[in-house]
Amino acid sequence: MGKCVAVLIFILLAAKISGSGEALAETRQIEELTVTSTAAPVYPPIARAANVQGEVIVSVSVNPQGDVIAALALEGHVLLRKAAESAALKWKFNSLSQTSNTRVGQITFSFKFEFEEAVEVKDDIIFAPPGRLELIHKVPTILSIQKVNGRIPEENCPMHGERMRLGQAEILYGLPRAEFGHPNDLAHIWQNVWQKIRRRFSYYEAARKHFPESNLLVWGGCQVGVVKKSEMLYCQRCRNAELKWRKKSILAKGLALMR
Ligand SMILES: [Zn+2]
Repeated sequence: MGKCVAVLIFILLAAKISGSGEALAETRQIEELTVTSTAAPVYPPIARAANVQGEVIVSVSVNPQGDVIAALALEGHVLLRKAAESAALKWKFNSLSQTSNTRVGQITFSFKFEFEEAVEVKDDIIFAPPGRLELIHKVPTILSIQKVNGRIPEENCPMHGERMRLGQAEILYGLPRAEFGHPNDLAHIWQNVWQKIRRRFSYYEAARKHFPESNLLVWGGCQVGVVKKSEMLYCQRCRNAELKWRKKSILAKGLALMR
């Protein structure tokens, strides 16, 4: 955010105390705080993870040069306070040449987040005079591929030797069904045979053998995340093989999609 001009009015109540010790009068002095530059807070990852949104009101003390010398959160969620205070310390106000008073003002920070179906996102930062700043933190729902020196890694399909292309795949969350062996008694022989049949016609067995780099689906572990898709590399010939398998395999519709 560039130079923004707004006015924060603050009221300084100063009690004048007479030489005899009696409080005689209060003088009310009004001075202006003009915001010359703002800084947005960083959305704390822990607050994001805990779905915490809201406002934090920060009291700032400003020296004659316009620097914030102290920032203290007065209200707001505890997980957001520190980020708001850190940002407030970076704000700049107008300088005063004639007085050496420390001025006091308030900044309100609003923390929100939104999901965006994109790989690269940019936060919205809105300054609303006189002293309010809204941070709309964008959370991408598509995971970016791990780049090598800022570039997409070059890989070939081990099966087809073809250069892999950059694409996106749905993430499946959950744990794959564990393979387990039954005791070799008569009662469990059928169970073992059944496991073998399942494996033989399962999607993952077919993927392993016929289209290892199709990557139409990727595993996301046991966490249920907000990330729904991931960038990844895929082999077009593997994808063709998978689509063919899906069409051809009679069992695909029934048995084969069992994990
Ligand atoms: Zn391939």
